[in-house]
Amino acid sequence: MTHDPLLALARRLPPIDGFPTIDELRADLLAWRDENPDRIRHAVIGQSRLGSPIDHFTLGDGPLQVVIAGGVHPNEPIGFRTVQHLVRLLLEAPELSALDATWHIVPCADPDGARLNESWFGSADRLSYFTGFYRPAPAEQVEWSFPFDYKQAWFDHPIPETRALMALFDRVRPDVFVGLHNAEFGGVYFYLNEHDTTLARELRDLPAAFDLPLDVGEPEMDGLARLDDAVFRAPLARERYDHREALGLPPETRSGGAGTADYLERYGTTTMIAELPYWTHPDAADTTPTSRVYRDVIAEKADALEELNVLLGRILDAVRPALVIDSPFRRASEAFAPGMGEAARAERARLADPALDRPATVAEVFGNREVARTFRLRFGGILRRALAVEVEAGVAREAVRSASIELEGIFREWLAAETDTDLVPAPVSALVGVQLAAVLATVRRRHG
Ligand SMILES: [Zn+2]
Repeated sequence: MTHDPLLALARRLPPIDGFPTIDELRADLLAWRDENPDRIRHAVIGQSRLGSPIDHFTLGDGPLQVVIAGGVHPNEPIGFRTVQHLVRLLLEAPELSALDATWHIVPCADPDGARLNESWFGSADRLSYFTGFYRPAPAEQVEWSFPFDYKQAWFDHPIPETRALMALFDRVRPDVFVGLHNAEFGGVYFYLNEHDTTLARELRDLPAAFDLPLDVGEPEMDGLARLDDAVFRAPLARERYDHREALGLPPETRSGGAGTADYLERYGTTTMIAELPYWTHPDAADTTPTSRVYRDVIAEKADALEELNVLLGRILDAVRPALVIDSPFRRASEAFAPGMGEAARAERARLADPALDRPATVAEVFGNREVARTFRLRFGGILRRALAVEVEAGVAREAVRSASIELEGIFREWLAAETDTDLVPAPVSALVGVQLAAVLATVRRRHG
């Protein structure tokens, strides 16, 4: 592993501080293009809903078509740094030409959404993070607004940012696509769309080379096929639908459409996702059994999600007739409040499974507890911003103003509880190193 030349490239990163703003990222890449006009080509492949350009930079001219997109979830900026370092490596490291690739890089697929997160990009402090956090409603997420038509599900209005990616995919027919995602807490995990256990093993070993823990606790979704420790096969949207149906759950409402992997199925594209945490915790990698029953741990998470669903729903019901600003925060809240109820019901539907009748591991106890804490801060925080914009604009009616004060108080209590989490900020250079190494490993594997 240490002799791997690609890994060595990814390890050669200087210390990195925070994440660039959208304007800084764009300025950097355009400056490199200006300095290397014969090696970097630039095009604008679309416009965001608010009119910002969606950039596409191309490097190399090999037969293997690789598409990399950052900001597919605008609250996940580790990929912005990965893009900067990938471009730098492509310019400076002649070894990479052995991959015979044409690199299509979309630095940020959702500039509007990313701008609503920029307030915390400079700091690894959980208070600034949750105070400035924004995640779009699923139907407004680039990753989850591809067309979907399966059984009772129907979604056919991709946002302009998604349409820009669709047009790029149709033109390029990628061999490899990597959407640059990241997670929040715990350790590193990966998704692959193929049952490739060789690549899965290679990915599994990457975090240790950068001193980051794997996350071997509760997977993000239940029913995933495990390819190796912390490496899962990414389910297609119709497989998730069938899984919910088998559990006796109704189809998800407000869940948007299909994902990039669903759309790219037609081109036989290999897709890989590296999920990286801003904050690590040793418990994420600890498979020691605890004295707690796994079923009780899941039931407790379901209770917490339902409690959040009830709180957000109550506040929204109280303010809805009085709200006047159609903000992204408001639309996200209208989707995530019922979404927490659906998540709670999905967890409850699992409880009858006899496989849950065993001791939970340390990693499972940690992961399930942190999801509940994170979701209340994320989605309570977005509703808080929906109310705050009305107050700040001077249009908040009494119901909105008093709800804003109430939620602010609850949110501050949640934040105060964050001071005792033992979560440690991960070095950005290690996070970028893992993501970069995972991209290079996936492209090399497809190159064969
Ligand atoms: Zn994501």
